[in-house]
This record gives sequence, structure tokens and C-alpha cells, in this order.
Amino acid sequence: MHRCTRGAVVRPLTPCPAGAGAGSQPCGCDRGHGGRPVAAGGGGGAGPPAAGRVPSGPLPPHGLRTSAPPLRAAPRRLPGRAGPGRAGAEARRAGGRGVAAMSGLLLRALRSALRVPAAARPLRTAAPCAAFAKELFRGALSKEEVFPYPEISNEELQEINQFVGPVEKFFTEEVDSKKIDQDAKIPPETLKGLRDLGLFGMQIPEEYGGLGLSNTMYARLGEITSLDGSIAVTLAAHQAIGLKGILIAGTDEQKAKYLPKLASGEHIAAFCLTEPGSGSDAASIQTRATLSEDGKHFLLNGSKVWISNGGLASIFTVFARTEVVDKDGQVKDKITAFIVERDFGGVTHGKPEDKLGIRGSNTCEVHFENTKVPIENVIGEVGGGFKVAMNILNSGRFSMGSASAGMIKKLIEMTAEYACTRKQFNKKLSEFGLIQEKFCFMAVKAYVMESMAYLTAGMMDRPGFPDCSVEAAMVKVFSSEGAWACVSEALQILGGLGYMKDYPYERFLRDTRILLIFEGTNEILRLYIALTGMQYAGKILTEKIKEIKKGNVGVALEEFLNKLRDSMGRKVDFGLAGDRGLVHPSLQESGKKLEENVYYFGNTVRGLLSRFGKTIVDEQLVLKRVADVVINLYAMTATISRASRSISIGLRNHDHEVLLTNIFCTEAYFKNNYTMAQLQKYAEENLDDCIKKAAKHVLEKRAYTCSHPLDRTF
Ligand SMILES: Cc1cc2nc3c(=O)[nH]c(=O)nc-3n(C[C@H](O)[C@H](O)[C@H](O)COP(=O)(O)OP(=O)(O)OC[C@H]3O[C@@H](n4cnc5c(N)ncnc54)[C@H](O)[C@@H]3O)c2cc1C
Repeated sequence: MHRCTRGAVVRPLTPCPAGAGAGSQPCGCDRGHGGRPVAAGGGGGAGPPAAGRVPSGPLPPHGLRTSAPPLRAAPRRLPGRAGPGRAGAEARRAGGRGVAAMSGLLLRALRSALRVPAAARPLRTAAPCAAFAKELFRGALSKEEVFPYPEISNEELQEINQFVGPVEKFFTEEVDSKKIDQDAKIPPETLKGLRDLGLFGMQIPEEYGGLGLSNTMYARLGEITSLDGSIAVTLAAHQAIGLKGILIAGTDEQKAKYLPKLASGEHIAAFCLTEPGSGSDAASIQTRATLSEDGKHFLLNGSKVWISNGGLASIFTVFARTEVVDKDGQVKDKITAFIVERDFGGVTHGKPEDKLGIRGSNTCEVHFENTKVPIENVIGEVGGGFKVAMNILNSGRFSMGSASAGMIKKLIEMTAEYACTRKQFNKKLSEFGLIQEKFCFMAVKAYVMESMAYLTAGMMDRPGFPDCSVEAAMVKVFSSEGAWACVSEALQILGGLGYMKDYPYERFLRDTRILLIFEGTNEILRLYIALTGMQYAGKILTEKIKEIKKGNVGVALEEFLNKLRDSMGRKVDFGLAGDRGLVHPSLQESGKKLEENVYYFGNTVRGLLSRFGKTIVDEQLVLKRVADVVINLYAMTATISRASRSISIGLRNHDHEVLLTNIFCTEAYFKNNYTMAQLQKYAEENLDDCIKKAAKHVLEKRAYTCSHPLDRTF
């Protein structure tokens, strides 16, 4: 089906209202800047349909292992232990032939035999996605954007499955994550294996020697590559950010010159934005590029910190300040993006940082001293670098959803084996409700992440370069926090063993923590999500008010009727549930909950806009809640749409999907109601003033100031 053919097109940026994190690196904006819901009706959803049933509902057709419990004294079979399994893997590794090399050959043969050339793949006929997430802020549900759940063609499915097998085999048999973590280095033979598999060029078009994967296919492979955090970061730093600028905004000459060696992995790329004084506030970078007198090159000077692949890369995407003469003839400092080759000279790097997790990934300072960069190496326009940076970051975030889900699915397998064999109090762990709850929690999170990630990837794969930056940011926030919570629960299932270095859980925990920090911290992304949506809703509202002031009776009447219906207890109906609804009957209750939440979210946003006006940008605690609700709404939409598809086409275990969806939607619905209640003007549930007061006290004293419980005044 559709292959992304972005070429040199830069997607238009979503302007962000000033204040969203002071021109922050990840917020995605292109400017530099630092009513109580109605009570829920309905219960927890209708029961799931009988397994195997393919209902003729209203949807269109597309639409433990167990082993004998070990005796207490017997050596326990432990998940992930460096035991016979690992020795076997080592022996296989030592076997030397190399899965990757063979797989590489195999893949190339398969690619030529099976692959549908990009140009020959039928493009989806659907219209480009039109701001699904932003519409939620207006209390609208553009169901045609998300129903049915995105579908890929048989050819594309067959193609991706041909990649999945060898990559899985390589990661199972040849990647030694424990050693990578201990040595804080990915061994050369592993890097070679990754190159042989083509994993350095996943989204680079075939004409430049890459695999030319669509976003959906990239997400699928991300489920596997995420099984080793260090490798996942190395590959992502190279292609999701390091070379992405060339891909989305580079000239044909730049692509032809740089992409082939980057696709093969002969050259590794890095993305150089962060500086000691400039993290989230990316617009404040100080690295400078000065145009030479003959106008043929820039001289680059400055230092970047925490650059993934900084010590390995030969090609860098570097952001620097440049002088730009604007239309009025005034000289201004603007950011420009450059392709910098290590061979240009004056490029040095520090020693690899010693980190908490993803220890095998290479993170370094990178310094540029009078590095001569030809003007042909500017990416996009001189002065247009901030947009390039935001577009790069916005385009890659969605993949954190499938990557995190891939890791959690693996953790479920590993821990389920243990829970079903380990006995305490004469019972298997799996028989205890509190352990069962953890498995349900992990399954729900994995399901939601997958659903959000593939829905977003499907939207991004539509023709017309749709702007899915808000959706992608929501996937990133949900899945990074979900992954962190799930790894912690998985470790807890193992008890003390989970804490031991002999087992991989503590490594997963350390590796996962970075997900909340890089590619835009979750704080900045929440501000971005909330402010982008509120700005969108605010514009439309302002237009309506203008129309009413002009005497447009139609608009005035519509507003009046809306208020009247609300005051009479409106029944919300977006066409999801009911006889003619889009969701399957077994998901009706979830559909209704989503509809109701969306409607009252729209009202809540309106209330906030009229209450705060432009000062909303300073209301971070409010914005966080707005973001939390809309993330839940998107997640509910993704799961309902996916589960409906699964039932309608009779997918294996679709009843389990319905169960997970109904659990998630019910919990999210009540959380949303509580959060929206907190957003009301005089809400008792809202403790913001107290929270600010307590924080102020702590920060003023720079300490915890309560007396010790043992202190006395007598
Ligand atoms: C392992 C690793 C790899 C990295 N790889 C790269 C790379 O390849 N290339 C690259 O350019 N960078 C890279 N980075 C840098 C990374 O993108 C930054 O760490 C990130 O953008 C945050 O910046 P900071 O660390 O300076 O935190 P700061 O911006 O100082 O933020 C500190 C805290 O304050 C919060 N905060 C900041 N501003 C606001 C605000 N306006 N409102 C509310 N809260 C706010 C943040 O969310 C965060 O919690 C990497 C970092 C790490 C740790």
C-alpha cells in the first residue's frame, strides 16, 4: 500500500501559542518562547462476544507456558537468567556463521522477489487526515479519520513479515544485551549484523539503498529492535533524528550524496541540537555559523552535549545560529540546520558519558571549531532550522508506542512463566489477585500503546503529508510513562530476583527511564499537546464570536440551541454507538463513554478559554490536565477502533481485545470525569493553589522544612 514518499517536502508546522516551554526543543512550535461533566451513565461495557464469532454488526468488513512448580530447594527456573539459554545463545553466536549475514543475503533476495516497488504500491485513497486530535478540543469527534482502523495491503503485510523473521532471529540469537550493558558498548559484530539486516536504512527510499519502509512498517520493526534499549537508541539517533533532516528537507543532491552510505550503515548519523545552556529551550542555542566573505561556506563554532552516536558518527545534523537579513533589511539571528561531515575538520568529541541506562548507546559531547561547512550543506532555508528541527522530532515520536509495546509483550512472557510456577503460601503467584492485576495492567497498556502507535502510523502513511504531530506527541507521552510503569510492575512480580543484576529486569528499568526525557520531555510535550489544541479551538471560537457580533443569526442560533440542549441534559451521540453506529455492539458502552467524554471535553476547553484567555499559557497545572484528558480520549478512540476491526474480521482472540478495551475505556472515562471536574472554576477537587503554595515554601527554603517527628518543644 502506501509508502511514504515525503521527498523534500517539509510539513507545515503547527504554530504553538507563545509560552509553551520557551521555544522548547521538542514542543513542535515554530516560535521562540520559553463544567463539571455530567455524571456517567452505563456500566463497564457489554460482555464480550463468544470466541470465534464473526458478528454481522454494523461495521464495514474492514472496518504459559506452564511447568511443574519447582520445590523451594530446587534450582528455580528463572526468567531471563543467564543460564543454559544464554550459554546456548553464546554458543550459537560463537557458531560464527552469523544469522545477520545470512539473513541479510536472504532479505535482499526476498526483497527483490517479493517486494512491491514503492512506485507500484497502490496509494490509499483516503483523504489526508484533518486534525483529528485538534478537533477533540472543540468537542468534535471526526470519526471518518479513525474508523475503520488503518488497514495495510496484503503485499505490504507479506513484505513486512519477511523482515520480521530474520530481525527477530538476530535479536534472539546474536544480541547479548547483558554484555552490551556491562561493557557500555555495542560490539562491532553486532553493529555489522544490524547493517547486514539493512536496519540503518529502514525509512530511506530504495533508490538510495534503504528499505523504504512506510511508518507502519517501521513501527513493526521497532517492536523488535526495542528489545535492546542501547541498539534501539543507536538506530533511532541515526535515522529517526540523525539523517531525518536530509530525508524530509534535503535537496536531491544532498540525498544522492549522503543517503546511500547512511542507508548501508557505512556512515552513522547524529542529531546535534542540545547544548549545555539549551535543553528544552532549543531556541536558545549558542553554536554559531558565520558566512565566509566569499559566501561559499559557513564557519561553525560551538559545543553540543549528550549527542547520541556523537562518537561514532561521520555525518551530523547540526543546528546553529546564523545572521539572516529579513524582508525589512534588518539583521536577525535565526537558527539554521547543516549537514556536517566529520571530515570537514575541526570536529571532536568527548569520551562517552557513563549513564544510568541505554549504556551501550554512545552519548558524547561534540565540539565544532572553525568547521568549514559548504553552503550547499544547509538543510532547507538559511534561518529555517528551527522548523527543520521540530519537523524531525515530530515525525519520529509515534514509533515509541510500538517499541514500548514490543518490550512489554516480551516482559509479559518472561514474567508469566515465573508467576505460573513460583509458589508462596502454597499457591502459585499467578493465583493471587494482586499479581493477576499486574498482568492485566501490562496487557492493557501494551494494547493501548500498540493501538495508538499503529493508528498514528496509519494516519501518517496517508498521502498528503498530514500533520500528526499532536497525535505522535500523545503516543510518546502515553507509551513512555506506560513502559516505565510496566517495567516496574514486571520487576515487582519477580520480587527480590527482579532487583538482581543477574536478571534483565533492572536493566529494562534503567533503559526505560530515558523515554520520559528525550525526544521532548513529557512536561514540554504535555504543554505542546494542550496549547496546540486549545489554540486551534480558540481560533474557531473567536471566528464564531466575530460572526455573532456581525449579526450572523445562524451561528447565534446554533450556539443558543447548544446551550439549551446542555441545560436540558443533552444525550450525546456522535454516531459511534447505537444501531447505525460504527463500533461493534460489544464495545457500545465504551463508545458511549468516549462520546460523552469528548463532548464535555469540548465544553471544558471553551470554559477554560473564556476564563483564562491568552494567560492560559501560564497555567501549567491546568494544561497538564487538559493534555491528560485528550491523551486518554485518543487512546480510547484507538482501542475502540482497533477492537471493532478485530471483531469484524474475526481476528484470533478478539474477545480478549474487547475486554482490554472495555477495561481501559471505563477507567479512562472515570479519570477523565475527575480531571475535568478539577478543571471547573470552583472545584473542590482542585488543589492547585495549595500545591503551588507548598512548592513555593519548599523552593524558597530549598529544603523540606517540617520538624522531625522526634523533635520537641519542651
Ligand atoms: C541519553 C540521552 C541522549 C540524548 N540524545 C540527544 C541527541 O542525540 N541529540 C540532542 O540534541 N539531544 C540529545 N539529548 C538531550 C535531550 O534531548 C535533553 O536532555 C532534553 O531535551 C531535555 O533537556 P535538558 O536535559 O537540558 O533538561 P531541561 O530543559 O533543563 O529540563 C529539566 C526539567 O525541567 C522541565 N522543563 C523545562 N522547561 C520547562 C517548562 N517550560 N515548563 C515546565 N517544565 C519544564 C523538563 O521537562 C525537565 O523535567 C539526549 C539526552 C540524553 C539524556
